Amino acid sequence: MPRTQPYPPGTRIGLTTTIPVEMVLAAGLAPVDLNNLFISAPGAPGRVSKAESAGFPRTVCAWVKGIYAVLQEHSEIAAVIVACQGDCSYTQALGEILEAENREVIHFKFPYPPDREQMRRELENLAARLGTDVREAVRVRERLEPLRRNLSRLDRLTWETGQVRGEENFLYLISSSDFESDPEAYELKVGEFLEEAERRPHRSRSLRLGLVGIPPIFTDLWDYLEELGAGVVFNEMPRQFSMPYPGLDLAEQYLRYTYPYDIFGRLADLEEAVRERRLDGLIHYTQSFCFRQMFDQIIRERLAVPVLTIEGDRPAPLDSRTRMRLEAFVDVLRP
Ligand code: SF4
Repeated sequence: MPRTQPYPPGTRIGLTTTIPVEMVLAAGLAPVDLNNLFISAPGAPGRVSKAESAGFPRTVCAWVKGIYAVLQEHSEIAAVIVACQGDCSYTQALGEILEAENREVIHFKFPYPPDREQMRRELENLAARLGTDVREAVRVRERLEPLRRNLSRLDRLTWETGQVRGEENFLYLISSSDFESDPEAYELKVGEFLEEAERRPHRSRSLRLGLVGIPPIFTDLWDYLEELGAGVVFNEMPRQFSMPYPGLDLAEQYLRYTYPYDIFGRLADLEEAVRERRLDGLIHYTQSFCFRQMFDQIIRERLAVPVLTIEGDRPAPLDSRTRMRLEAFVDVLRP
C-alpha cells in the first residue's frame, strides 16, 4: 500500500540498482545502494549463506541474496526502490518477497526501448511516491553537476595520466549510485582525493585493460592485475553510474545510461572506450546465474580487441583457476 504520509527528512531509502537518485535527494531522503551496503561491510559471504538458509535457492545470483540479507540487518531502511524493468527478474521477485515481508517497495521502470515520454511519466510517478516533484529533482541534478564533472575528471586521470589506479576509479565511480547517502560529504571526499591524485607523478601503462559487465564480486581483481603489470583504465558500469554526459536534462540523462537498455547501446559505449582509451584487451566479468552472461558472445564478436571472460559467484578472492587465466591473458597481450 502506498503511504499517505510523507517520509520524515533523512529517511533512508534502499536502491537495488542505479535509479534517478536525484528524486530521492529532492525529497530530502537518504539513498542507500544496497549492493554497496552488502559488499562493503564485513561478513558479505555470510550474508549470501543467510539468504540461502532463509530459502533462497543456490541457483540465484549472490547479489540478490546479499541485498535480501543486508536488509534484514537494516530495519531503519524504510522503503526499497526496485527497478522492475531494466534490471532483472531476480530483483523483481526480490521486491515481491520484500513486500510479502511488509517492507515498503516502490517500483521504477526504465522504459524499454528507451522512450522520452515514458521516462517522463516514470519520473513523475517516482516523484509522487517519494513526496516531491520533478522540478525539485531538476534543481538537484543541477546542484550535482560539479560533482559529476569531478567524477569525469577522476576518470580521465585514470586513462589519460595514470594518476588514479583502476581500483580507486572503480570505488569512487561505483559510489555515485547513491553518493554514499550524503552528496555534500561525498563531493568533499572526491575533491580531496583529486587534489592528492593530481600531485602524483604521471604513470604510463604498458598494458591497458577495460573491465566490462556488472560489478565483479571478487575482492582482489584489480590488485592482482596490477601485480601482473596490467592497469585497468576503464570500468564500464561504474562509469555509467557516474552519468558522465553533461548538458542533458534529467530524462535524457537516464535514457543515455546504457545499463537498463539493450546490448547495442552498451556496444557503442564500449567501442568508443576501446578507441579513445587505447585498450589492449577487455575482461568481461559475468556473474553466476545472471542472464547477462548471454551477452558474452556478442561482446566477443563485435569488439575488435581480445576479450577474456571470467565468472564469479560469491564474494571472495580470485580462485586459482581464474588467476591462471588472467595471467595467461596478460602474457598473451604483453607487448
Ligand atoms: S547480477 Fe544479474 S542476476 Fe544478479 S542482480 Fe544483477 S542483473 Fe540481476
